[in-house]
Amino acid sequence: MTQETGGFAALDLNPNIVAAVVATGYEEPSAIQQQSIPIILAGHDMIGQAQTGTGKTAAFALPVLNGIDVSKREPQALILAPTRELALQVATAFETYAKQMPGVNVVAVYGGAPMGPQLKAIRNGAQIVVATPGRLCDHLRRDEKVLSTVKYLVLDEADEMLKLGFMDDLEVIFDAIPETRQTVLFSATLPSSIRSIAERHLRDPKHVKIQSKTQTVTAIDQAHLMVHADQKIPAVLRLLEVEEFDALIAFVRTKQATLDLAAALEAKGYKAAALNGDIAQNQRERVIESLKDGRLDIVVATDVAARGLDVPRITHVFNVDMPYDPESYVHRIGRTGRAGRDGRALLLVTPRERRMLQLIERVTGQKVAEARLPGPQAVLDARIKKLTASLAPLVAESEASHGELLDRLTADLGCSPRALASALLRKATNGQALNLVSVEREQPLVPNGAPRERTERSGERGGERERRAPMPLGEGRVRCRTALGARDGIAAKNLLGAILNEGGLARDAIGRIQVRDSFSLVELPEEGLERLLTKLKDTRVAGKQLKLRRYRED
Ligand code: AMP
Repeated sequence: MTQETGGFAALDLNPNIVAAVVATGYEEPSAIQQQSIPIILAGHDMIGQAQTGTGKTAAFALPVLNGIDVSKREPQALILAPTRELALQVATAFETYAKQMPGVNVVAVYGGAPMGPQLKAIRNGAQIVVATPGRLCDHLRRDEKVLSTVKYLVLDEADEMLKLGFMDDLEVIFDAIPETRQTVLFSATLPSSIRSIAERHLRDPKHVKIQSKTQTVTAIDQAHLMVHADQKIPAVLRLLEVEEFDALIAFVRTKQATLDLAAALEAKGYKAAALNGDIAQNQRERVIESLKDGRLDIVVATDVAARGLDVPRITHVFNVDMPYDPESYVHRIGRTGRAGRDGRALLLVTPRERRMLQLIERVTGQKVAEARLPGPQAVLDARIKKLTASLAPLVAESEASHGELLDRLTADLGCSPRALASALLRKATNGQALNLVSVEREQPLVPNGAPRERTERSGERGGERERRAPMPLGEGRVRCRTALGARDGIAAKNLLGAILNEGGLARDAIGRIQVRDSFSLVELPEEGLERLLTKLKDTRVAGKQLKLRRYRED
């Protein structure tokens, strides 16, 4: 057994669940998972104080799944989530963890989509129902017995549900589920309204809170950058152009991510390697030795695999994926700034993870300033600086050894020394872009690195630029076109809503949406596109048929 399966295997979960989790690439339970899973497995009610990014979904999904009786085709677990988006994410997470448990069915129930198919899916034997409270109450009004077999009730992001005004709906739902149920409540904050719900509806709940002791961070220069999840690799590549590092460790969450990023770095010529829990101990030691002696400059690691890694050469830590809690953030960035050297730590933050950033700032008592991705000019300057540095030692001594050859070549080629030097530079730099136009063309990201806006109205600057040179697509995405545009009264949010509702996609799956006057473009996942377009066949937006089609630019 590899070292990381031990982490989940020790939790007394059904081996099929452990296998699915390990196949997902998780190496070790996060702190909230470590603490919550045994409590839920033991049948206790629980209050978990945790926010997005801590791994809270798996903290309840795994033990709930463990208690599902696959032979019974009736609702056994109800998960309540504040928004359609979260409900879809939670449902997808359940499906992932249940991959090796045939017969488990999950249904997501939320407003804005037709009720009939949802009710049918529940009645057809879905054991796990993930719902937003409002829509679930609509179902209860049609069939008050629909939840009478539920034995697990989970409230996810309870504070958000109250903020959205679901208090009354929650009371109706509590009443519709047998009292013998087990209830688990997760919330980022515990205001008195949540405590009062817990007092009334939970039985002797155990509390789980990820302890956030104040942590001191030594002299490490920290910054964060806002990026979309699908822009992380290009963002890292661009940052590496300008960061002057000696050795660097990049932290990600899964094995697959270590492999993906290490491969992207190697492809760009960096001396990089992946370090994850699948890598045998002796190989792991070789990687660390290579990082120490300079045969490698970048290691892409999971937290587990980087344990005990102490390499004084490390000047930079990139937190490509968010750590689960402030403690591991402090632990990660402590890999740099060793032996009194300066260290720099960069953290990539996706829009959903802002709260974790705030928590890190609170716990460390330090602001992690926002940085911007370097633009093409900065990339170009950095490249020229590196080239200059590599040529400087040669300039002083090369004329004596190569001056005569230069004279002969200029004579033979009949060219000026400037023309010859240019040719040699081109050869020496291997076709690397070294003027602004080429760098701009080459960089796959929007210049400022801020999360992309989903809308772009026709006529605005971005829109004009877009028309001349379409933005590069996110990996695995294709552009689709509809003939509906601003003149039909369409806004990006209408398109997003319709595709989420009718297509059953997670929000992250939908990329950039551009609404023009007479048409709109939407980035959608290439995988399963035909199926998705079929599902959306009859979808109407603003009273008109959407008729989304794959769009070929050329
Ligand atoms: P959550 O806090 O539940 O929204 O989870 C945040 C992200 O962490 C999700 O993308 C999960 O897939 C991922 N995740 C959760 N638990 C683990 C784990 N033990 N190891 C690696 N990734 C995890």
